[in-house]
Amino acid sequence: MVASRPIRDAGVVLVTETKLMTETLRQAMEGCPAVADKVSVRAPKGRVPHIIVHNVPVGKYATRDKEERWIRRLRKGNTLPEGDISVRFGRKAKNGTEDWILALAPEVSKGIPKQGRLNHGFSSLRYREFLEPTRCFKCQRFGHMKSQCPDLAGPDYCTKCTGRHLPKDCKAKRPTCRNCAEYNSKTGARNPTSHTVRDQKCGTYLRVRDHLVLMTQYGPDTK
Ligand SMILES: [Zn+2]
Ligand SMILES: [Zn+2]
Ligand SMILES: [Zn+2]
Repeated sequence: MVASRPIRDAGVVLVTETKLMTETLRQAMEGCPAVADKVSVRAPKGRVPHIIVHNVPVGKYATRDKEERWIRRLRKGNTLPEGDISVRFGRKAKNGTEDWILALAPEVSKGIPKQGRLNHGFSSLRYREFLEPTRCFKCQRFGHMKSQCPDLAGPDYCTKCTGRHLPKDCKAKRPTCRNCAEYNSKTGARNPTSHTVRDQKCGTYLRVRDHLVLMTQYGPDTK
C-alpha cells in the first residue's frame, strides 16, 4: 500500500501500486474474521480527487456556514462547474492560516485551472493534488503500515532522531530525520537531515509524495 486518505463516514481510501495488490489486500481483509467483522471493503466509484489548498486565512472561515461561503467564492472566482466541493479537514500552516484538504466531484476537478493557483476574492491561493504517503509508526519509513512492518521486533524508532525509543524520551538536542539520513548514506546525497520524520518539508516525504502524484496521473497500473 502506498497511500491512504480519510473519507466521510470514518472511511479510508487505500492506494496500491497495482490492481493485483488491491485484490490481495481485499482478500486478506475479507479473509480475516476479526477485520471483516468491523470493516467493509469496496472499490471506489471512480477516484475522488482531493486537493490541498495552502494558507487559507481561517480566522474568517471558522464555522460551517462560513466554510460554505468560502466554497461559493472559490466556485465563482474560478467559474467551476456544478458538483460537490467539500472541506474534508484542515492542517495548521504558517501565520495562523490553514491548509485545507478539499474533496471534489470529478466534473469539478476537470474544471480546476491547471496553473496551480485558485482565485479567491481578491487573492489567489496555491494548491496541488493531495495524496498522503503512508508512514509506518514503528520504523518511520514510508510505504507500509505498522502492521506490515518488517522491523516489528524491538522498540519503536524515534520520530525526532535515529534512535529506538519513544519521542518523549528523546534526549537529542536537535532532530535528525532517519529517512533522509538513510537516503544520504545509501546514495551519497547531502540532503538536509535536521528535521523530524514528520516534517512536511522532509525531502523523503516530498519525494514519496511526488511519486504518488505521478503514479495516479500516469499509471503504473499495468496488471
Ligand atoms: Zn515499518
Ligand atoms: Zn530520539
Ligand atoms: Zn527527512
